[in-house]
Amino acid sequence: MIVSEAAPDLRGSVRPGRFATIFSYMPISAELLEILICPACRAKVELKPDGSGLRCVSCHRLYPVRDDIPVMLIDEATIDE
Ligand SMILES: [Zn+2]
Repeated sequence: MIVSEAAPDLRGSVRPGRFATIFSYMPISAELLEILICPACRAKVELKPDGSGLRCVSCHRLYPVRDDIPVMLIDEATIDE
């Protein structure tokens, strides 16, 4: 009785969360770009043609992309004029 009740909880705890899965393994896609916004002004961001960063269409902050993971942090952004 104890084993059968504990087993489902154990399986659930080792499964990675959906959020972590998306941001750890998925390359930048159109779907991901649609949910990403500039943390400074809440405007949408666009992928640079060379894939090196994400540029805010409003305040022109450029967020770096490291190992296909966008770093959406104001402290990490540079201003791309
Ligand atoms: Zn912005």
